[in-house]
Amino acid sequence: MLEVEALHVHYGGIHALKGISMEVPKGKIVTLIGANGAGKSSTLRAIAGLVKDKRGRVRWNGGDVTQMTPESVLRSGIALCPEGRRIFPHLTVMENLMLGAYIRDDQVGVKATLDWVFELFPRLKERTWQKGGTLSGGEQQMLALGRALMSQPDLVMMDEPSLGLAPLLVKEVFEIIQAINVEGKTVLLVEQNAFAALKVADYAYVLEVGSLVLDGPGSKLLEDPRVKEAYLGG
Ligand code: ATP
Repeated sequence: MLEVEALHVHYGGIHALKGISMEVPKGKIVTLIGANGAGKSSTLRAIAGLVKDKRGRVRWNGGDVTQMTPESVLRSGIALCPEGRRIFPHLTVMENLMLGAYIRDDQVGVKATLDWVFELFPRLKERTWQKGGTLSGGEQQMLALGRALMSQPDLVMMDEPSLGLAPLLVKEVFEIIQAINVEGKTVLLVEQNAFAALKVADYAYVLEVGSLVLDGPGSKLLEDPRVKEAYLGG
């Protein structure tokens, strides 16, 4: 279980997160929706240890990870699949995936995870020698997700995994998110595609300019007039 308490993030003079509190229970899919600039990425980056100027508390499985380095957070079982894919364009698919496993030294376990990632993303298996940068947008997104899974995390945080993808691929990405969850991974999903995110989410939070304004089960928020008006096109 991940617990965020009164989390503040500042970038110089910008108060990007103004004391948000949220929970991600083990085994669930929780989504954070909100407009551009609301602070969704900042939330994930702060949890991952990538933001210097923060206040509040992040607890993970009972331990305090607020001030941990990104590597320690990853070792504790939390992986971030960042926005914009951020794969290494000059490395091959296989090299990108193996970088995701750099914190592990159990060769047999790494091979088993690799097999699982190839099951989830058969297209990556056909392209192990291809340079990351020459993959299509959708394939790069799958590589980024696969790389995050290679660390064998308990919690996968995904920042806009459907961004810029064609509708058919968006559907596929959300099916894969559900498949990852069924395999026992807890998911914290940041999305601008509110409709698709709320449909798969057990629980959801709505972020507006640095503050949480609404939360509830995904199915409930789908029916909420305020959510419909602001995020689902009326
Ligand atoms: P989007 O959906 O557009 O990615 P978001 O909800 O993920 O937006 P954040 O990226 O967390 O929002 O940004 C929140 C606010 O913090 C924005 O006003 C943004 O300009 C600002 N911000 C984010 N990162 C930095 C940074 N490194 N330096 C300065 N300001 C930043």
